[in-house]
Amino acid sequence: MPELTGVGVSPGTGSGPVRRFVEVSLPSPAQAVPHGDPHLERARALAALEAVAVDLEMRARHATRPEARDVLNAQSMMVRDPGLIGGVSGRAMEGATAAVAIGRSFQIYRDMLAVTGGYLAARVADLNDLRDRAVARLYRLPMPGIPVSDEPFVLVARDLAPADTALLDPAQVLAIVTEQGGPTSHTAILARSLGIPAVVGCPGAASIAEGTIALVDGASGVVRLDPSSSDVERVRRAAASRATAAGAVTGKGMTSDGHPVPLFANIGGPGELAAALTHGAEGVGLYRTELLFLDRAKAPSQEEQRDVYREVLEAFPAGRVVVRVLDAGGDKPLTFLPAPGAEPNPGLGERGLRLLRRYPEILTAQLAALASAARGLPVKLQVMAPMVTDIADAEYFVKACRKAGIANAGIMIEVPAAALRARDLAPAVDFFSIGTNDLIQYACAADREVGALARLLDPWQPAVLDLVGIAGHAAHEAGMACGVCGEAAADPALACVLAGLGATSLSMNAPALPLVRAALAAHTMDECRHAAKTARAAASAAEARAAAREHLHALRDMGL
Ligand code: PEP
Ligand code: MG
Repeated sequence: MPELTGVGVSPGTGSGPVRRFVEVSLPSPAQAVPHGDPHLERARALAALEAVAVDLEMRARHATRPEARDVLNAQSMMVRDPGLIGGVSGRAMEGATAAVAIGRSFQIYRDMLAVTGGYLAARVADLNDLRDRAVARLYRLPMPGIPVSDEPFVLVARDLAPADTALLDPAQVLAIVTEQGGPTSHTAILARSLGIPAVVGCPGAASIAEGTIALVDGASGVVRLDPSSSDVERVRRAAASRATAAGAVTGKGMTSDGHPVPLFANIGGPGELAAALTHGAEGVGLYRTELLFLDRAKAPSQEEQRDVYREVLEAFPAGRVVVRVLDAGGDKPLTFLPAPGAEPNPGLGERGLRLLRRYPEILTAQLAALASAARGLPVKLQVMAPMVTDIADAEYFVKACRKAGIANAGIMIEVPAAALRARDLAPAVDFFSIGTNDLIQYACAADREVGALARLLDPWQPAVLDLVGIAGHAAHEAGMACGVCGEAAADPALACVLAGLGATSLSMNAPALPLVRAALAAHTMDECRHAAKTARAAASAAEARAAAREHLHALRDMGL
């Protein structure tokens, strides 16, 4: 039975016929034969754009999930952008063919976005998709994108744009396999939030033939082709067990012998509160505030910030909300807060707290907004800084919090230096929160955005487990809380290991909460500690995963 191996990024197993993401090889602009009549070329180009907009609108109307509807509506608005339409018209009237007029006009928008990098550059993929749709329409080629199928399928693609992933219907897509992409890519994060098993960074995936039956294990990263019927039956049973397990345990996070491990949600703004509450989050473990600052020419006012923060704080009257101050720079560049000089390696540059130390007025305003948002509310507000490296960083941040009247100030442990010397940092702060996404990229010197490095970005890397263990131990010695808020906490097996390594709470994308809650409730704290110990003793990520599972006996019965 042929087998491919990638990186499992969304646990669970799925099996079914492969449908490939429809890629269309478009004729190059040079191949486009000019019609000779500029009016006709312009009319053809505009009709193609409008047809794409109408198609997207129609799909939005039929989309069942609000996120999908929003993405589709935003895309149809992009195609109808007056600037784009004006550009296409002008170029056609100057003698360009319809295809060239469309291609060049999109190019201008793409170049503008590409230089911004990070989150915004991700929209380049959306623009490419829209251009390809318009040109496919011109040449009457099949539309690129998610295939249409009468039966559920395993989706195989070279890579998926965030807009494609947002549209996936979990009832239709049994699993995802991509040749490119890494564990912290948007595809991985969205797949996890949709509960679709996924393997990324899987060499050879793009050449799996349409219709081949594939069995995908989103935990181990193994993709089996043409599996036996007994294997398929096993997978079907596992999926049913997962659904049962996820619905079986409610309430607060704790191990089977009653050790509390509070479970929190990661959110980017008030829009994600509903999902957090639905999935039983006990609070927010990571509120990424940068979304509020994105796409702005200047920082939002203190009042605007206060109102948004208050909405989040009010959602958990009896709980806890951990807010991260602005984490700009690196993969999250902000227009109004540029890194001061050219940075050949933005991930290693002035990002997070480093940038806030350069612009202290931004930090002061944000802390003041947070303090005033929390005034009079029963919620426990905790505020933390990203990209803290040493004691000077930690002391700087805590001092700024105290000055703003914030009593509970912590730091993210996401730089290996901070993890290794956590014992020195602990006395200076009120809590730690381990950001495994960045901790992995810095520990393994592997850019989290580079899919080709997916193997190195595996959170089961024993070196990463060591760093978590060191920070967890230092926090324990200091009698201090140490949460984990990176994506690693969303993997039920790893969640148990993290608790065993000393994590006192876990925070993740909300849909991952039920299975993590069930996995913790099925094991004692001692089992979690044994699993952690044997995983740390392993020599590779794969061995660590397998060794930990030996102690986490209930996972198999839960379909994990
Ligand atoms: C992390 O680095 O693990 C983290 C939680 O923060 P972000 O993914 O926003 O960098
Ligand atoms: Mg981070």
